[in-house]
Amino acid sequence: MEADFHKSKTMIFPRDVRVGHGVLAELPDVLHDIGIVPGQREVLIVTGGRTRKLAGDAAAKLLSDVGYHVETLEVHGATMPEVERAIAAGRGRGSGVVLGVGGGSIVDVAKLTAFHLDVPHVSVPTNAAHDGITSPRASIKEDSGSASKQANTPHAIVADTAIISQAPYRMLAAGCADAISNSTAVLDWKLAHRLRGEEYSSFAAVMAENAADIILQSAGVIRPGLEESSWVVVKSLIVSGVSMSVAGSSRPASGAEHMFSHTLDQLAPGTAYHGEQVGVGSIMMMYLHGGDWQAIRDALAQVGAPTTAKGLGITPEIMVQALVRAHHNKPDRYTILGDKGLSQDAARELLRVTGVV
Ligand SMILES: [Zn+2]
Repeated sequence: MEADFHKSKTMIFPRDVRVGHGVLAELPDVLHDIGIVPGQREVLIVTGGRTRKLAGDAAAKLLSDVGYHVETLEVHGATMPEVERAIAAGRGRGSGVVLGVGGGSIVDVAKLTAFHLDVPHVSVPTNAAHDGITSPRASIKEDSGSASKQANTPHAIVADTAIISQAPYRMLAAGCADAISNSTAVLDWKLAHRLRGEEYSSFAAVMAENAADIILQSAGVIRPGLEESSWVVVKSLIVSGVSMSVAGSSRPASGAEHMFSHTLDQLAPGTAYHGEQVGVGSIMMMYLHGGDWQAIRDALAQVGAPTTAKGLGITPEIMVQALVRAHHNKPDRYTILGDKGLSQDAARELLRVTGVV
């Protein structure tokens, strides 16, 4: 007799994704597509001081010129008080959509604000430093480091490469490293599937791996001052974000290399970028997996992302501590670090053999 079938799954994707030169001008179109029309509820633009000049004010003008009521709110960093301030602003004015115009932390504040207001969210990134610009999760700074909070997948993404290519190149290199790190995140996921029977989606895994491959294969042509480089990296980060939507978790894009990076955030806050840390973490975790860690190191070096502790500006001793403690960062996420993590000696040896220290 056939067993009853009870499996079900929900996947929520962005409905309208626009990437390329000058796509900011298409914002009114994008809002129409997600059902927000002029004369109805207000548009809340969450932006930063610098990003407001770069794109926030232009976005507000584009929308008000065609009849939208727009309110702009400047926020300073992704902290809960700033999120609460944005929620209060949105609630007070009855906002019907939230646009995050800025870097990762601005987009995260907008994402969480929209989630709490229960309205659509549009991601308008001004840099491509990590995959948070497209993911359903928001990273919020707390006293004990950063916390990843549940939000919604953006209803739409408007990634204007003319704007993104004006951001410091270091950010784009960090975005490359975040995408490359999917290679080890997926290996960790496969391991957890085989060892623990964790739910696994080959579709999500293939997408996440593809996002990494896009960068591994084009590392040689990604360089400063080239708008096409921003195009390649944004496309890869969007694929990465969608892989998380398919999986329903950050699994395909976040494994032991991310746990190592989150631990570094606690031990050496504000030293290196997220992408830079996970890139170096990915070199080491690929070594532990017995994979081609040199290919990861070489691609990172080619795009100009750090491959050493020195490049991150972090002391060898803190690197050892971060490696030894990393498995505590997400105890329920099974990875190559296992339940016990690395010993001090094994951590030192790992740093030495991969040339990170
Ligand atoms: Zn990441």
